[in-house]
Amino acid sequence: EQVKKHFPIKKSLLKRETQTVKAVDGVSFDLFKGETLGVVGESGCGKSTLARVINQLIRPTEGTVHFHGKNLAGLSAAEVRKVRKHIQMVFQNPYASLDPRKTVGQLIMEPLVIHGVGTRDSQKKRLYELLETVGLNEGHAKRYPHEFSGGQRQRINIARALALHPDIIICDEPVSALDVSVQAQVINLLKDLQNEFQLTYVFISHDLNVVRYMCDRIAVMYLGKIVEMGTYEQIYHHPKHPYTKALLSAVPKESPFEQKQRTILSGDVPSPVNPPPGCPFHKRCPEAMPSCQEVAPTLIKQTNGQQVACHLMNDTEEEAICH
Ligand code: SF4
Ligand code: MG
Repeated sequence: EQVKKHFPIKKSLLKRETQTVKAVDGVSFDLFKGETLGVVGESGCGKSTLARVINQLIRPTEGTVHFHGKNLAGLSAAEVRKVRKHIQMVFQNPYASLDPRKTVGQLIMEPLVIHGVGTRDSQKKRLYELLETVGLNEGHAKRYPHEFSGGQRQRINIARALALHPDIIICDEPVSALDVSVQAQVINLLKDLQNEFQLTYVFISHDLNVVRYMCDRIAVMYLGKIVEMGTYEQIYHHPKHPYTKALLSAVPKESPFEQKQRTILSGDVPSPVNPPPGCPFHKRCPEAMPSCQEVAPTLIKQTNGQQVACHLMNDTEEEAICH
């Protein structure tokens, strides 16, 4: 609810003045048991920071994160560690996220050891179970991460994330570093695991093409804010925000007859240090009006439940979600 994460940075080496990076700037959403929520946007829009705020790897500057009714932001470090058993992460880079000096067995058992779960024997048993669950085998336990391909390393990361029987797994660009053919295998594995263990996923990606195979609902982020949120059907088939439309126009369609005119966005995402006034998207928006430069649109729920932050939506039935 209204989560903000602002980082102070030094303006220059000489002066003491600081500036603020508004990485996440007032984000609110629900996450329902068993669903996959996609969080999509270009790099630098705050997705990874949001992911780390959810499981309190980073504490929010403002706002609250509730899990089973508990406000995580109010918990002590020790209490947060306990909650983190239930909210695990799979990171983007399967090459960097595994300690090269540890065997695969040590890496997968590590969460059990850290949290003091079970005896040495039961931890071993769980290890072999996990290896099988992610499509590896007992023989892999004694080997080191460098002996594995990118896809296999991501399987090792997933096994680690599953070790403590989590409720939620936050996947931060889990397949972005992998070849397209391997991406599909890892996505299918994640889907199978979700069915088997009733997992809830937050699936973060810059790629709407990857998200389309995974997500029940999607939040589109731009410059630290959610600009549109809706079901798979709403976002892919009836996008309302000009930014979502532009992102989708870059996604190849299955049939060439479906291919729509591609909207090329000029320029990069503006810096979160000095975000432009008004609508954060106005400098790149093909539909911008004069008022967009001054007044920031709020995220408003439409009659069909879709949430959109854009002045073009203002004549529809309104219920403000956040300011
Ligand atoms: Fe574009 Fe204006 Fe809508 Fe922002 S508020 S997305 S600039 S039309
Ligand atoms: Mg990121």
